[in-house]
Amino acid sequence: MSEYRGYYGKALDFLKQNKVKVGDTIQFTTNTEQVATIMPRYEHSDDSHIVVKFKSGYNVGLNIDTIKKIEFVSDMSLEQTKNNTIKHNSKLPKILLLSTGGTIASRIDYRTGSVTPALTAQELNASVPELAEIANIDAEVLFSEYSENITPDQWIGIAKKLDSLAKSEYAGIIVAHGTDTMQYTAAFLSFSLSGFPKPIVLVGSQRSSDRPSSDAALNLIGAAKFIVKSNPIGVFVAMHNSENDDYVACHLGTRVRKNHTSKRDAFETVGDKPAFIVSNDKIIQNFTDQYFGNKDYLPKIGLDPKVALVKYHPGYDPKIFENLIDNGYKAIIFEGTGLGHVGRTMYDVIKKAKIQKVFLGMTSQCMDGRVNMSIYESGRDLMQMGVIPLSDMISEIALVKAMWILGTDAKNIENIMIKKIASEFRE
Ligand code: ASP
Repeated sequence: MSEYRGYYGKALDFLKQNKVKVGDTIQFTTNTEQVATIMPRYEHSDDSHIVVKFKSGYNVGLNIDTIKKIEFVSDMSLEQTKNNTIKHNSKLPKILLLSTGGTIASRIDYRTGSVTPALTAQELNASVPELAEIANIDAEVLFSEYSENITPDQWIGIAKKLDSLAKSEYAGIIVAHGTDTMQYTAAFLSFSLSGFPKPIVLVGSQRSSDRPSSDAALNLIGAAKFIVKSNPIGVFVAMHNSENDDYVACHLGTRVRKNHTSKRDAFETVGDKPAFIVSNDKIIQNFTDQYFGNKDYLPKIGLDPKVALVKYHPGYDPKIFENLIDNGYKAIIFEGTGLGHVGRTMYDVIKKAKIQKVFLGMTSQCMDGRVNMSIYESGRDLMQMGVIPLSDMISEIALVKAMWILGTDAKNIENIMIKKIASEFRE
């Protein structure tokens, strides 16, 4: 029953005896007296805890044996808050929150118990009230997808929407996005909107706001503070910097990777510190190659998805690669071994690809470091055949960059792939 969603056994009896249910605001006493809203329960639930959400947006599991007193305060408080008009503070800057879906944009409908992947300004204000103290937030839902379903066409849609906001009154734009493919979208926006005159900050969450220890609130607060206090030009990904609720890391959109399946600090800047770190009261800048309002904005929104990313491994069948050429792929990015190699069994198909004018670029499957193809004979052979080393570009960022170039300036792909457009190479 949705009124007690996820509760059973002792915890269910406890709620019923105290005449409270999911969605109710309660006043309870453990060591201190506090007010919070009862949340539904999900996986790993035991029957000795109830989960409550505090006004700050944080969720906590309470052992029912530690609750000395519990009283009903009001029904569906979030629903009520939702209907309140958000107070506008004319002294604060404006930020647009553009939602594309993902865990961060999902929330519980207390009436049906289902998760709805749409976030309105009112809902956002209700779940993260601190935002209203940092900026006036407008919110818009662009689409609602988990990011594994996002296609390159949708990157174009996001880029066009952002481009239309280049001269708007917003100090910056937060893009709520699923974390699985966030670095791909961030990279596309970095290339296609190079020099965009306001910060664009992609924010996700590893744990949805209805779970204990959700990271959504802090990531949003960190992104908003970053926009208001720092105002750099560029595309960033703002996520937890540690497992704790203390710092938010703002990574460059072309140097970031999701490196953990579930940890809150899953995102890392490859081979470096995050570009910026946002703490409660200050912003630490680690990255110096950053523009602050003085780069030309040259939007180039386009792509051709006929690019493949090939992870070479012992036993890789060259026919798979040949199929790509035969199917009209125009660029292939290798994730080679070590310094940038593939085995000699690949040489014939590589020659065939070059005859057909397929761009071939080399990145490494190592987690860090730079491709160097002049050390070993195999690297030199590959370069001789026309494989272009892509320095320390992250392989999936190279994939996105090649798609973008093919859609905007295809004939110059060899030059542009090795030219720095949006800090995709480290110095
Ligand atoms: N699979 C989800 C997505 O990428 C996970 C998340 O939102 O973090 O959209």
